Amino acid sequence: MAAETKKSFKFVVVGGGIAGVTCAEQLASQMPSADVALLTAAPLIKAVCNFKQVSKTLEEFDVEEKPSSVLEGKYPNLRVIQSAVTALHAQQHTLLTLNGLEIHYEKLCICSGGRPNLLTHDNPHVLGIRDTDSAQEFQKRLSKAKRIVVVGNGGIALELVFEVEGCEVIWAVKDKAIGNKFFDAGAAQFLIPSLDSDKPDRAATCKRVRYTVESPGGTEGLTIATERKPSRSSMLNEPGSALGPDWHEGINLRGAEEMSHRVSVEYETEMKQIYTQQEFMLLSLESQTAVTDSWPVYVELTNGKKFGCDFIISATGVVPNTEPFLHGNNFEVAEDSGLKVDDHMMTSEPDVYAAGDVCTAGWKHSNLWQQMRLWSQARQMGWYAGRCMAADILNETIELDFCFELFSHITRFFNYKVVLLGRFNGQGLGVNQELLVRCTKGHEYVKVVLSEGRMLGAVLIGETDLEETFENLILNRMDLTPYREELLNPNIDIEDYFD
Ligand code: FAD
Repeated sequence: MAAETKKSFKFVVVGGGIAGVTCAEQLASQMPSADVALLTAAPLIKAVCNFKQVSKTLEEFDVEEKPSSVLEGKYPNLRVIQSAVTALHAQQHTLLTLNGLEIHYEKLCICSGGRPNLLTHDNPHVLGIRDTDSAQEFQKRLSKAKRIVVVGNGGIALELVFEVEGCEVIWAVKDKAIGNKFFDAGAAQFLIPSLDSDKPDRAATCKRVRYTVESPGGTEGLTIATERKPSRSSMLNEPGSALGPDWHEGINLRGAEEMSHRVSVEYETEMKQIYTQQEFMLLSLESQTAVTDSWPVYVELTNGKKFGCDFIISATGVVPNTEPFLHGNNFEVAEDSGLKVDDHMMTSEPDVYAAGDVCTAGWKHSNLWQQMRLWSQARQMGWYAGRCMAADILNETIELDFCFELFSHITRFFNYKVVLLGRFNGQGLGVNQELLVRCTKGHEYVKVVLSEGRMLGAVLIGETDLEETFENLILNRMDLTPYREELLNPNIDIEDYFD
């Protein structure tokens, strides 16, 4: 008998990353009588566990990569289908998959994530890091490398330059300071000395072990450092889910040399040209410049400097994975190429929602929230999209969730706890802002953004213990003019003060 090629579900979610899995779980648990399908290109799915609400908006959780059977075992009404979506016919409410299925949906949520915005696509010396397979490829190549060039100034570049040891790193950033997506030049100054010091023993400093990978066949957790067969996703060139917090946990990021850090930062510069060894030698011959060493690849930066290296890491952001969904449909696509969604996570196509890295929040945001393609927002959007889809079927009204009221994010950079709140970088405030800063070298960096006496944002680096109090002060929109002097006074217990 021929295998059935047509299937129909009330809810279909595309993508086995945090957004898709959270959305599917939400739907399956809220509506146990409805059939839910999770369609994903990769063999493993990402699941949130040990979720902890740290404060009103701050959250922390672990992530586990698991075989899809775990999800199906948990929810009898949830089916996971492993196959990439190749086309969407939004009018007919059908999806086509690589293995020849035609799937009909009543409500669809697209959570297909993003892919690295690579400097170039067809150069074997240029690597992007996005999923477990690309992280493993990076580790393998790094083990033989003496010098790498890292291009980019976002979270991935920041983590990577700090984690790599035993290999010289040339770090090209286009801004005046490192990490300016996350913090200002002052915080960058606070963090920079960490790049020159030996890395502390990880076991002593890392408070959380975040990232485990389970083999598809078993339940035993193994770290991504463990050698394993290439996964189906790498063999088929299908995109896996994006890595997230502590993605480097358990991967030995060590080069071929016997040293700790050696990072040189090249500021305000971008990649101009990449040369093969042959091209570079020819160029040097023509310009009569002596070449003293030989490298597999060479880069020329816009500041005129040229470097040879073993390979280049392109950490210049992500592009939303929208391709299979756009053709023949009428999606409104945002400037950053994401599927534009409204305050119910709905795209411009009827019955089609989107969440996570693939979407662009198109509603009028609270003036304390902004979208950043982060793990925490992928979870929040997936969860909220699931609730909106269910509410739509049940004819219920639903308000924009409180998590979109205030931007908040906890992470670790250079082994420091980093908390970002609201307009932490004074985003959009121009000259209409006042900054209060308290900094103790090697210990903590606290920055508060005030505007017309009200706190609109904060950057907290180190164990400051201020996140909950500052979150409250931001949410209360209290006029802090009379307390300006006391706010960052280290001798005042600010929590007690505003109790
Ligand atoms: P993804 O996790 O990318 O999942 C997309 C899913 O869709 C995958 O399962 C994929 O297989 C599937 N898919 C794609 N196309 C198709 C298709 N055509 N058909 C079927 N399935 C498809 N965030 C933080 O908050 N903190 C961090 O410290 C942090 N560090 C990071 C480090 C790295 C190296 C990277 C790459 C990202 C990091 N991020 C971090 C960002 C974070 O990982 C992402 O924002 C988040 O995982 C996005 O989740 P998502 O579910 O939207 O997409």
